[in-house]
Amino acid sequence: MTQFVALPPGLSAAEFERALGELRGLLGTDRVVAVADRLRPYQKMMIPAPDEAHVPSGVVMAESVTEVQGILAICNRYRIPLWPTSTGRNFGYGTSSPATRGQLILDLRRMNRILEVDAELGTALVEPGVTYQQLHDYLSERDIPLWLDFPGPGPIVSPLGNTLERGGGNTPYGDHFAHACGMEVVLADGRVLRTGMGSIPNTTSWQVFKYGYGPYLDGIFTQSNFGVVTKLGLWLMPAPPGHRTVLVQFDAEAQLPAAVDTMRRLQLQRVITNVGVMATAVMALSTFKTRAELYDGPGPVPQPVIDAAARDSGIATWNMTFTLYGTPAQIAPNLAIVTEAFEAVGGRVNPDFHDGSQVNELSLASFGILNWVGGGGLAWFAPVSPARGSDAARQAKLARRILGAHGFDYLAAPTLNGRDLHHLIALVYNRNDADEKQRANRCFEQLVHEFAQHGYGLYRVGIDYMDKLAGIYGSVNRDVNRAIKQALDPNGILAPGKSGIHP
Ligand SMILES: Cc1cc2nc3c(=O)[nH]c(=O)nc-3n(C[C@H](O)[C@H](O)[C@H](O)COP(=O)(O)OP(=O)(O)OC[C@H]3O[C@@H](n4cnc5c(N)ncnc54)[C@H](O)[C@@H]3O)c2cc1C
Repeated sequence: MTQFVALPPGLSAAEFERALGELRGLLGTDRVVAVADRLRPYQKMMIPAPDEAHVPSGVVMAESVTEVQGILAICNRYRIPLWPTSTGRNFGYGTSSPATRGQLILDLRRMNRILEVDAELGTALVEPGVTYQQLHDYLSERDIPLWLDFPGPGPIVSPLGNTLERGGGNTPYGDHFAHACGMEVVLADGRVLRTGMGSIPNTTSWQVFKYGYGPYLDGIFTQSNFGVVTKLGLWLMPAPPGHRTVLVQFDAEAQLPAAVDTMRRLQLQRVITNVGVMATAVMALSTFKTRAELYDGPGPVPQPVIDAAARDSGIATWNMTFTLYGTPAQIAPNLAIVTEAFEAVGGRVNPDFHDGSQVNELSLASFGILNWVGGGGLAWFAPVSPARGSDAARQAKLARRILGAHGFDYLAAPTLNGRDLHHLIALVYNRNDADEKQRANRCFEQLVHEFAQHGYGLYRVGIDYMDKLAGIYGSVNRDVNRAIKQALDPNGILAPGKSGIHP
């Protein structure tokens, strides 16, 4: 009998062996994995959580909707919890590990067809395993003038997986869920739901009109465990005739509020149409320097050391980037407006900057932040704030103090999205150092709780923190989610614990 790494809760080894036998009958032996060696690539959690709490019992790999239905039927019979992943690269939030021990990972990477691209309407329909790189190549090989918006690890991650997490990028289409249109979802009982216009026989409009008729359901299948999404419609941005990326630098911390207020005004007026990014000096340095090159003492790198290194590399205390898109005739007046507005609040404007993430150039450069300390530890701390200078400054002060008290640097790149600001902070640490891992864990905990005391919640969180964050969002919210869960997945087999939703 196989020596299992973990068992699904409530199942004996013999029962699990029988279930795996049925799964092998459905998928073949190669696509059912329960041995330690082949499970290891699925256990690369970066977050500071105990590994034992998130060990999967195995992996099954589906290649079609029919296979997903077959897997669900077997898992329902044996009550095996199933953790769906698309490309499984949810780095800094748990990678592909399940929220609770013993879940079987449903790996959908092999479902990787680009089913449709409509060049006129700017739409696509993709399966879970499609990567941004694959879609990018598809468009460029066919000279289709559409752009993608992607997250930092774009080349190797999935538009479907990222959108289900309500992730983001940096072009005008940076809010990925806002630019998704129509889903196919396999429900826990095997029925297939097509949302929006997708439920109309011979639909002509699935990828162009989101809402269909009746309640708008797509939202309940994001950051949730109510179904397995097997297709997603995307809206793609027409390649603009031109673009100009602008860097605005602010040398003093005290300039942050005015910078954020100015940005909000320009975004709400639609002078700036994309997501702005506001990197701290350490965040900018971390993309090409290591911490050890600057400082080898304990605690966060002292401010004078950061300031000196930043100055040497042309980096400021706050470094804001955004892009103006359009014809030269459209860009010129907007550039004049933004230059005047940012200079009025003391910003230094460089209108000839380059940031690939804002202009359809995929790269893995953002992984540079992992070299800052080395050792592969990363937890994203992602609180939401009104895009108001006073809130941004309060959050920056809080974050700096808490991170510093635990010995970590303030690697932040808040994204500015008109009315809201996602204060994205990379808590990077050495995961091979048990003490540092514990400190990172305590630091994260304190960040969440102090931010909550000030009325700030996170937009997304790692698998180890889902219950606690759901607790902060309150009991009515949790009860409603649980009611939907019970209605759609009465045996509670889909991803128990995802977003704090349990059967
Ligand atoms: C350096 C760096 C930079 C990053 N930058 C960004 C960024 O700019 N923006 C951003 O959003 N993220 C960013 N990330 C985080 C993360 O890597 C991306 O969000 C990534 O797209 C998520 O992984 P994935 O696409 O493989 O999704 P997956 O890991 O496949 O899916 C994510 C989760 O969604 C659920 N899920 C997935 N597929 C399905 C399905 N078919 N049905 C039901 N549920 C499903 C599961 O709960 C799964 O755990 C960054 C990470 C790093 C390390």
